[in-house]
Amino acid sequence: MRLHHVLLSFLVFCVIGANASDTKTYRLKLATSWANTVPILGEAPLELKEMVETMSNGRLQIRIDDPTKHKAGLAVMDLAKTGQYDIGYTASYYYKGKDFKLIFFTTVPFGLLPSEQHAWFEYGGGKELAKKVYEEHGLLHFQGGNTGMQMGGWFKKEITSLEDLKGLKVRIPGMGGEVMSKLGVLAVTVPLGELYMSLERGNIDAVEWISPVFDMNMGFQKIAKFYYTGWQEPASETQFLFNKKSFDKLPKDLQLILETAMSKVANRVLEKAVYQNALAWDKIKTEHPDIKVASFPKEVLVELAKANDAILDEQATKDPVFKEILDSQRAFINKARAWTKMGDYAYINNTEK
Ligand code: CA
Repeated sequence: MRLHHVLLSFLVFCVIGANASDTKTYRLKLATSWANTVPILGEAPLELKEMVETMSNGRLQIRIDDPTKHKAGLAVMDLAKTGQYDIGYTASYYYKGKDFKLIFFTTVPFGLLPSEQHAWFEYGGGKELAKKVYEEHGLLHFQGGNTGMQMGGWFKKEITSLEDLKGLKVRIPGMGGEVMSKLGVLAVTVPLGELYMSLERGNIDAVEWISPVFDMNMGFQKIAKFYYTGWQEPASETQFLFNKKSFDKLPKDLQLILETAMSKVANRVLEKAVYQNALAWDKIKTEHPDIKVASFPKEVLVELAKANDAILDEQATKDPVFKEILDSQRAFINKARAWTKMGDYAYINNTEK
């Protein structure tokens, strides 16, 4: 990893040297899905801008528009695809309605952990498969940082059986929501501004959001006492989606500066997620010692996993590329998980005091 970075810096240095005479200023527009008030993800494009502008000595300038400006937080991929913006900072799985395959590059329920997913992406065929999928949309795809394991949600009542889920109103979007619906949950969407009140008033029984640092800001810890562990989004990766024509127009040195900076920003997102979640959870449990961290009973998790497999398998029959990616991730998870378990997992179990 280190060597990789040293090499990239060296390459950037060489190419900059070769293009010292090119003084033209290039301007790019970036649309992000997250306002700068969102922890971690709000900061990432700003860090990219600062890094790129410094590394290029001002030759590459980035203008950032957040959803308060472009009003299309969940359509950022289209903004980059149509060329209205050069770069979109977003999460692939927001667009599963357009192309179901896009979920694999963010996260899949019961799927890979961040370390496993990064390994698959870099060396296990992930990058090539992503290229195949994004090319169809006229986009280049770069990792934008992983926010790590998500919690299963804040529940007002304990879930002790499959029966407890029947008719339960849960705010859970995306694939997680689809899977829970198969077990009789009413998966609902609630506007962001009404989430807290809906949970407080009992209009919904539970809310799946993200992880401690993001959840704490929403205040759910004040009104729901069961904090369920995750299964639905084990490794949410964000993306920098680049309009291919915009990227191709840039000189090679600026392309390399961008690639290097995006990769650095992506690393920082994961580091920050680990750091800030650790601090946020410590604060939540200190201030609310009555909160119980719980996991769904085994019978519930088994049924959730079955429902998840059924949705993925059905989709695979409709789309051969979907099947190719699903098979690739499934083949890798078996090998990767064996190592994760005998490595990290055994270490934690055996050394816990
Ligand atoms: Ca979530």
